[in-house]
Amino acid sequence: MDNKSSHPSKSKRRENPSPLIFLVVLGAAFFMATLFTAWTPSGLFSGNLSEKMSMMLTAQPEGNPTLSGGDYPQLRIGIISGHWGNDSGAVCLDGNGEVTLTEAEVNLKIATLVQQKLIQSGYQVDLLKEFDPRLDGYNAVALVSIHNDSCVYIDENATGFKLSAAMDTEDLTRAARLTGCLRDRYGGATGLPYHSGSITSDMIDYYVFSEISKTTIAAIIETGFMNLDRDILTQDTDLVAEGIVQGIECFVNNESVKPTPAPTIPPISTISP
Ligand SMILES: [Zn+2]
Repeated sequence: MDNKSSHPSKSKRRENPSPLIFLVVLGAAFFMATLFTAWTPSGLFSGNLSEKMSMMLTAQPEGNPTLSGGDYPQLRIGIISGHWGNDSGAVCLDGNGEVTLTEAEVNLKIATLVQQKLIQSGYQVDLLKEFDPRLDGYNAVALVSIHNDSCVYIDENATGFKLSAAMDTEDLTRAARLTGCLRDRYGGATGLPYHSGSITSDMIDYYVFSEISKTTIAAIIETGFMNLDRDILTQDTDLVAEGIVQGIECFVNNESVKPTPAPTIPPISTISP
């Protein structure tokens, strides 16, 4: 419920946590590599992906008003509302120590809007709980888990968003594309800075990443800090959701990402208590 343990981690199930640093470096390398590589329009369908796509495509249910065709296929996208159905996540307290806002409720508000927007765009969207049983072997073209960071005032740099991709996937390039798209579009939509230096191990080691299908491209986003970013998170939630939606659509549609990342700010020295 705070910085150190804001997301369920699979680390306790792991015997050897040492690959963490490697994964961070690898992730950064892939991100940089993809920044300077033009996305090919055929990228999404390269390799043996047609096989994977067939698993992700779901027949359009009859009577669904979002699309006019009868058998029009829809791409499936998963959205995890962080902590939903499990715990409160980070909390904001008033002067008397009473909880005034929980991360779980902020996450659910954002995740619900993301789901609605994606459905309007013609996708089939699963809104998933933390530890949702459907996550076991989960198959989708993309899966994004929505979280938020601490409500405790840390310092003036404790503002902005963080991203981490699932590195257990079979396709690291596409995993880096998802985070590249989210970083560009979310940063562009919200104007929030990107925290490249304070991605915590519980984001990289997020338990979901080891449970889903290896063909599902997944990422976790912390959309902001509940202290300094509280206003945009709670009062401009539609914009926050729109940034995530644009990032997902950038990934699915293979849109280009300019090598002009959102402004970054230094790591927070006291991120862990
Ligand atoms: Zn969280």
